[in-house]
Amino acid sequence: MHNKTETMTVHKIPLPTPFLVGDINVYVIKGDQVVLVDTGPDTKEAETALINGLNNLSLKVEDVDVLLLTHHHPDHIGLAYLFAETALTAGHAKLKPWLEKDEAHYQRFNEFFRAFLLENGMERKWIEAIENQREKYKKFTKPTALEMELEEKESDVPGLPGWGVMETPGHAQTHLSFYRKEDGVMVAGDHLIAHISSNAIVEAPYNEHEPRPETLIQYRNSLEKCSWVTKVLAGHGVDIQNPSKLISERLSAQEAKARMFLEKMNGEKMTVFDLTKKIYPEMYKKQPDLTFSETIGHLDLLRKSNQIAAVKSNGMYVYEQIL
Ligand SMILES: [Zn+2]
Repeated sequence: MHNKTETMTVHKIPLPTPFLVGDINVYVIKGDQVVLVDTGPDTKEAETALINGLNNLSLKVEDVDVLLLTHHHPDHIGLAYLFAETALTAGHAKLKPWLEKDEAHYQRFNEFFRAFLLENGMERKWIEAIENQREKYKKFTKPTALEMELEEKESDVPGLPGWGVMETPGHAQTHLSFYRKEDGVMVAGDHLIAHISSNAIVEAPYNEHEPRPETLIQYRNSLEKCSWVTKVLAGHGVDIQNPSKLISERLSAQEAKARMFLEKMNGEKMTVFDLTKKIYPEMYKKQPDLTFSETIGHLDLLRKSNQIAAVKSNGMYVYEQIL
């Protein structure tokens, strides 16, 4: 039988973003069908670059048959609406409220964070700053429907015979990566990036009564799941030729960082936000959400290895070293 995967070529199109991370790479995979992975943010500049990039491959927007989305961040999904009429839009089930811009979902998310950040020592003005930032990010996505929900499976990826879907939560709860079984090439969104370590961003639970996901622990498991991959086509920056080496470097760097956090606690009792301010004395003002995520993630690691414990007193969680 003719092996369709042999004829499929993967093309990278870098698109500008207004975010610190810089350009985002979207990928076009041409076989019997045309598949696009991710879209860029909803800006005029990204839209023009995407259309030009497709044109360079002799394609128009309406030639894309399947749009696969790696995760819900606006630089990855913002322009998905361009393909609503002509392509099948597929992604993780949890992507739905983000892609459809469900107001009730945003409200639940904000309510969770207001309480959660307060009980972890963050002052209201920083919580408001985070909410304002989230409002701004929302503007880079135009709403559209998620038509197909994908979960982890080794086959039947729409438009991609011979490919599989892997759930890779950690950086985002909605994160999926797509791999070609024949040669182990993976289109991995923000799961693994060569020039920056992906932040395991804290998110609210998606269902009531669920605990908050421990995103750094999840992320580490998702990294380990990919150690067999031969090449990563990343959402930002260059291709990663030897992912297993980078994966083990990232895992040891997290362990070293957790030890550094423990040393900085210096035997004192602290909230997550106290420690965030101590470790990132300037950066926390610009990126209160990301620095907080970084701190709580590494505290989760220390708690799992029984080096620290969290005690709730006066409505706040206070962390303490176990001696
Ligand atoms: Zn992202």
